[in-house]
Amino acid sequence: MSFRRPGIYKTPDELRLMVRPGVLTAEALDAVAAIIRPGVTTGELDAVAERTIRAGGGVPNFMLVPGYRHTICASVNDEVVHGIPGGRVLQPGDVVSVDCGAEVDGWNGDSARTFVLDDPDRPDLVAERRRLSEVTEEALWHGIAALAGARHLNEVGDAVEGHVESRGEFGIVEDYTGHGIGRSMHEDPPVFNYRVKGRGPAVRDGLVVAVEPMVTLGGADTVTRDDDWTVATVDGSDAAHWEHSVAVHQGGIWVTTAHDGGASGLAALGVRPVPIA
Ligand code: MG
Ligand code: MG
Repeated sequence: MSFRRPGIYKTPDELRLMVRPGVLTAEALDAVAAIIRPGVTTGELDAVAERTIRAGGGVPNFMLVPGYRHTICASVNDEVVHGIPGGRVLQPGDVVSVDCGAEVDGWNGDSARTFVLDDPDRPDLVAERRRLSEVTEEALWHGIAALAGARHLNEVGDAVEGHVESRGEFGIVEDYTGHGIGRSMHEDPPVFNYRVKGRGPAVRDGLVVAVEPMVTLGGADTVTRDDDWTVATVDGSDAAHWEHSVAVHQGGIWVTTAHDGGASGLAALGVRPVPIA
């Protein structure tokens, strides 16, 4: 993935324009959540996400990535990110990460959620995968909460890694990062979802970033499959991926890809998001 550098801090007017694509991204993932279950194909998830985004006046921004022709990525079990949706039929117990983004009036949202499908015959497997997804989502919220009080962007990765470590033995994928987001889905700066030495850019008004931890039940190493897109764990362990786009503005932070700006996810962490005025 390549990064553009149009200046990483947005103006208040630009921040306002990022609210609508964030909400539409959330609506597309809501539509996926409403139909996902065993027996559904990843292609059907893609279709409902595309319909939702177009009905809302947006464009699926994954289609703007050269060579990619779909609205979502659907990464199942040992797949981490960039799984291509199609004829794959979801099975009971599958752990499915769905990544999606909408562009509206030239501005972007980017968000991912992980779903663990029911399997009454394998409760232990389902419980283990649910815990993986929970730890990953919690790590995302810890990273976002850290952003709210951060001086530099590296504090996000410190918080993500610290939380994952506190919950047990997991792998944190380092081959992919979060990113700035704005007129392009992928912009500077990179957002590391793990501890790094450098401090990174200053966190101040106008910074908008996608935070997106990828966590596994085994090792952190990944491999790209022969389709040139799908990224899977080398050791075959299961993976989860959660992502939100977050704006830092004059009043505080606002998660553009959450309907409540992140209020429910951040409540336990003592951070109250503030709408972009
Ligand atoms: Mg994404
Ligand atoms: Mg992203």
